[in-house]
Amino acid sequence: METLMEMAKAGKYPEWLRDVAKSEGIELDKLVRLIAKGEVVVPKNVNRELRYPKAIGRFVSTKINANVGTSIDFVNVDEEVEKAIIAQRYGADAIMDLSTAGDLDYIRRRLLEIAEVPFGTVPIYQSARMKKVVVDMDEDDFFKSVERHAKDGVDFMTIHAGINKFTLDVLKKSDRLLGVVSRGGAIIVGWMVHNEKENPYYKDFDYLLEILREYDVTISLGDALRPGCLHDSDRAKFAEWVVLGELVERCREKGVQCIVEGPGHMPADQIAPAVKAMKVVTKNAPLYLLGPLVTDVALGYDHIAGAMGALIAGMAGADFICYLTPAEHLALPTVDDVREGVVVTKIAAHAIDLVKEGVRERARKIDYEMSLARKRFDWGRQFKLAIDSERAKEIWSRRRSKFACSMCGDLCAIKIAQKALERNVFNSKDDVCEG
Ligand code: SF4
Repeated sequence: METLMEMAKAGKYPEWLRDVAKSEGIELDKLVRLIAKGEVVVPKNVNRELRYPKAIGRFVSTKINANVGTSIDFVNVDEEVEKAIIAQRYGADAIMDLSTAGDLDYIRRRLLEIAEVPFGTVPIYQSARMKKVVVDMDEDDFFKSVERHAKDGVDFMTIHAGINKFTLDVLKKSDRLLGVVSRGGAIIVGWMVHNEKENPYYKDFDYLLEILREYDVTISLGDALRPGCLHDSDRAKFAEWVVLGELVERCREKGVQCIVEGPGHMPADQIAPAVKAMKVVTKNAPLYLLGPLVTDVALGYDHIAGAMGALIAGMAGADFICYLTPAEHLALPTVDDVREGVVVTKIAAHAIDLVKEGVRERARKIDYEMSLARKRFDWGRQFKLAIDSERAKEIWSRRRSKFACSMCGDLCAIKIAQKALERNVFNSKDDVCEG
């Protein structure tokens, strides 16, 4: 079997890729060339009937991911399924199952059934549940869950292969406050320190690629050392990116599509240089960022802090944004939290697209249409174009006005200006304000 990347390298493509190109408004040949170079990925497992495959990377629209999944405190599979449905309804381009409790195989398969967009997992979570104590995992356990998820049809997997003895050493010499906040990263660091061994994902990376290649799974190279607070935005994360850059080349050689994950928490002025450095180190691999959050004190509003960072990151080259919800750092999100997180992240993604090369013309058309509808007081059209139509309509309806809207009432600036300009009063000498 040829992977999508191998096909692209040979100038070939599966028929379904036509629809992907069409939905992105990109020429098929160009898309194939970008996939061949590894600058765009289209995650799709060979075992999946995926309704909406998505292109992620350069010259295609910015994508967003929504995480769902259980934790030991809340195992309600129906609720996680509902979250995934809501996330897709409000525009999530990918769903990741981060479940760590309950029947993990059952939860994953239930979610896979309803996921119409690329579906991702973090297999180390299941590996960690294979033994009573995490550090008792043997090396095979690391790979067993990867194979299991691949067989089920998972399209992309986060695998923390960049944390190795070298990067661990850099971490140990750092003055971090929070150390490691990546859950998968922390599990592996704990295992490495306890067992005094190299990370099996790094040591046996070729074996890992063999498994992924067989099912054409896209690897999302996890950043175990992503900073968990502004203070921790340090050398350790750069050290890991260098390793991830090497792994990107090995993925490409083997025909396995890959994405690289990034921070985390960062002061706003560090985001653009960091993203540009990542793009250089990874030779333009699609970048998948969590935020970055631009402050540590936005508890309850971390989705907004993350969207601010995402916009800066996207303008510098980030391609794929992982959503945050208002519950970040506080609790397992509810269905409402998921909806709000998706919408806010979608706004950031659209704002990125308004300036992104290759997609800005299409994105701007939507904003132009919205402005036209505003000018015409066409509320129906405005709601249709809004990222969250239901919310827009609800807010407009709860305080109706007999004029345009109840914000300005009879002093609607747009109406006044339209009338004035129709009568051309602004061209009258008497109306010219001097001084
Ligand atoms: S009333 Fe004010 S807010 Fe409402 S449409 Fe007119 S200018 Fe805009």
